[in-house]
Formats: sequence, structure tokens, C-alpha cells
Amino acid sequence: MPIRAAMDKHYMGVFSFLSAIGGPILGSFSARICKPILDSFSVGICKPILDYALPLRCPGCGTITAERDRFCLDCWGQLDFLGDPCCARCGLPFELEPDGPGSQCGPCASAPPPWQSARAALAYGEIARKVAIRLKYGRRTGMARLMAHYMVPHIRSIAESGDSPLLVPVPLHRWRLWNRGFNQSALIARHLGAATGLPADPFLLRRSRSTRPLRAMSPRAREREVRGAFAIDPSRRAALRGRTVILIDDVHTSGATARACTERLLDGGAAAVHLLCWARVLPGGTIDKHHGAPDFGMGNS
Ligand SMILES: [Zn+2]
Ligand SMILES: [Zn+2]
Repeated sequence: MPIRAAMDKHYMGVFSFLSAIGGPILGSFSARICKPILDSFSVGICKPILDYALPLRCPGCGTITAERDRFCLDCWGQLDFLGDPCCARCGLPFELEPDGPGSQCGPCASAPPPWQSARAALAYGEIARKVAIRLKYGRRTGMARLMAHYMVPHIRSIAESGDSPLLVPVPLHRWRLWNRGFNQSALIARHLGAATGLPADPFLLRRSRSTRPLRAMSPRAREREVRGAFAIDPSRRAALRGRTVILIDDVHTSGATARACTERLLDGGAAAVHLLCWARVLPGGTIDKHHGAPDFGMGNS
């Protein structure tokens, strides 16, 4: 494992561990006391050495690049950014120019999803997949900063509505958090908060039970599997009431988990929920098509 990734993993493992076993007190202690010390050590002493010894690389293919968090030209050309024109509700691209702002696709008009809007930085393709895998399974936690960088424009357009949204990551069950050492969605939310100044709360939503992998399940079975799997932390209920929430996840596949989370947040008093992900599997798109890679189903997290 590269030294830079090992350091990131070490830090996040420590914070996640303290937060998981000690809740807000130890989590707060680790964030307020330990992190600045470790960060200053990393930035002040290690970073110049690491930058010299380990050149910056393209997050897609590993080619040496001039700037941090930048793709090489070849990978850049393969990225499929999502944006207008798209359905105002679900964010799926319109093939033809819509009638006007706020236009919705047929399925959203007839059966609106629970979220106010769903957006993703990229269509799920080879490069988006590699970045997500490097974060989630390769433990390259620096990828979360890169993902947040490309998700920020969508946050700005939501925040322009005049609200001050709360960033809430899709939670992991505590055993998965213990096993992995970090929640990739919480890392992305933290970087989004740092970039936009919006508050992020990784403890507002939690998994009240673990769920099985969703990969082989039908859409209906996925919804059954994640139904009731999420809960609002009782100490956060008052803070949630009347707030607009931006639910953060890495990859949007069937949306079953996002739907369960959104319904729980609305039940808990949220005024509206927007869903924001790094990449989205478009209808007709596939996941795991080359390597049989681990499932990205959101219920799998
Ligand atoms: Zn590249
Ligand atoms: Zn739609």
C-alpha cells in the first residue's frame, strides 16, 4: 500500500474506531484534539517529503500528473459528466431539449420519488468505477476529496434555493464500519462540507440492522431488504426538524437504500431530501461488467 494511502487509512481508522466505540465524546475528542496534531505533523513534516518521493498520479490510470486530484487527458476524455438538460427530479438526462426549467420525465411525473432531486457527478463508467473501488476497497481515502471536488457544483445549485442544507452520508452498519475502518460516504460528506462550508453530520442517520448484499436481488427484494434498516439518532431529532438534507453516497444503482434513507429522514421531520452521489448507473448501464468487482449496490455500502 502506498505510504500516502497508508497514512490516510491510519488516521481514518483511528477516528472511525474512536467514534464507533465512544460515540460523540470520543469522536469529538479525536476530531478536535488528535486530528489537528496529526494533520500538522502530516502537512508540516511529511508532506514535502512525500510530494518529492511520491509524484502526483492520475486517479484513473496512475499516470504522473502535474496537479493533485486531476485526471490525465486520456481519462478525462472518458468521463461522462451529468448535468442539464435533465429531469429536475431524478436527474436522468433528457435526450431532447425540455420544455423549460423544472421539467420532469414521465416516470417522475406519474410516480414521484421521495427525494426532491437526485444528482450525480458522473455516469457510472470505467473511470468512475475505478475511483470508487480505490476508495472503498483499496482504502485510498484521498479519493473522497477528489469525488467531492466534482460533486460540489451540484451542492451549490441546491444551496442556491436559499436553504442551508445539512449533509448526511448513507451510514454503514457498525460491523461493516469496524471491518472497513471508515465509511466512504462520510468521508465524501466531510470533504463536501469543507469545500462548501455546509455542516455535515455522519451520526444523524444510522443503520439499525445489517443488510445482505443487494446485487443479485430484484428491485422489489432490494426494497424489502433495506426497509426499516435505518434510524434517526434520537439526539439529532430536533436538529433535523424542518431542515433540508442532502443525502450523500458514492454510487447510485437501484436507489433502494437511498429511498429507505430518504423516507426515514422525511418521517423524522426533514423538510426535503436531495440525493447526491459520485456516480450513477444509468438505465441500461451495467456494473461489475469487466472484473466481477464487489457489488456497489447502495444497500451494500
Ligand atoms: Zn489517467
Ligand atoms: Zn425523472
